[in-house]
Amino acid sequence: MTFRRRPIPRSHDYPESSLRYTAILAGSVRVYPDGREVCVDSLAGWREYKRRVKVMLERQGGHCSLCGKKLALNHATFEHQRRRGMGAAWRDDRIVKDGQDWNRAAHWVCNSAKG
Ligand SMILES: [Zn+2]
Repeated sequence: MTFRRRPIPRSHDYPESSLRYTAILAGSVRVYPDGREVCVDSLAGWREYKRRVKVMLERQGGHCSLCGKKLALNHATFEHQRRRGMGAAWRDDRIVKDGQDWNRAAHWVCNSAKG
């Protein structure tokens, strides 16, 4: 009886970067062809997400973007700006876009109240 060995999978059989996005920051963030960035649902992605919230909070002087009151980092959430028109539902985790501030930090209550 002869065994036929299964071929060793080559690395390019496993798409590490799909055509639809590029992974940056050790795979914690995906960049899409239209420039959007989305933090990956992983520990590294979550850390990057929180880091961005912190940066936004600092540039807002520690205040909530929605109610204007003091905002502590552990209560801060990522408040996504919405694009108008097509693609408005697409998430974008960038905090700078075209050289300008993009997205903000807000209390989670303010963020959820806005809907
Ligand atoms: Zn608030």
